[in-house]
Amino acid sequence: MEGIVLKTIDYKEKSKLVYLYTKAGLISVKALDANKTKLGFVTTLNQVEFEMTSGKLPTVTEYSLKKSFYSIYENLTKVGVLTPILDVIFHLEEGVNHSRIYSFLIQTINELLATEEPYMVLSVFLVKMLAVFGIKPELKKCVHCSRTTLVNFSSLDGGALCDSCSIYHEKNCNLLNDFQQLYYVKDYQNLSLNLTYNEILDEIYQYYAIHANFKLKEYHL
Ligand SMILES: [Zn+2]
Repeated sequence: MEGIVLKTIDYKEKSKLVYLYTKAGLISVKALDANKTKLGFVTTLNQVEFEMTSGKLPTVTEYSLKKSFYSIYENLTKVGVLTPILDVIFHLEEGVNHSRIYSFLIQTINELLATEEPYMVLSVFLVKMLAVFGIKPELKKCVHCSRTTLVNFSSLDGGALCDSCSIYHEKNCNLLNDFQQLYYVKDYQNLSLNLTYNEILDEIYQYYAIHANFKLKEYHL
């Protein structure tokens, strides 16, 4: 099985409980004598191949390191943005497409490793993941009347607004445009956001606070 280590906690003497995300979802396994023989298996963000025993709380029997993302730890901002990213993964519900999310998580961490814009990687991740929780913003038509002449985005309303439905809001085409870019982006290099990351992340956090059924651990600039 392949997975990425998200968190480890001490478990009895010399052992650790390791939480991994895999193509089958979140799992936790025991790593016995962890500090001596399983160092590569108990390091957060290590991508590993492993075998484990069966049962309710399995024990890892062997593993090999596929990739280490350890150099992310040399950059404090990158470490910071990992907090909400991993928090989202810990809140995934049953029945979601873990295989797809696993690939996206690995892609996100690879982007984070390479980027000079950690907040961009965080913003893309958080906006794209809204769909997984069933709370994707409506970005192509007005959330109230389905008109497609859009002038605004409202977190409270859950998406784009047309001119006549947004009389109580300040017009903010920039915010709408940024959410559209973040949601639909394929190549991160093509992103050209209008707002600052401070502004855009505030709005994304607000969106989660209103629509998600968990309290996201935020990381601010
Ligand atoms: Zn409308």
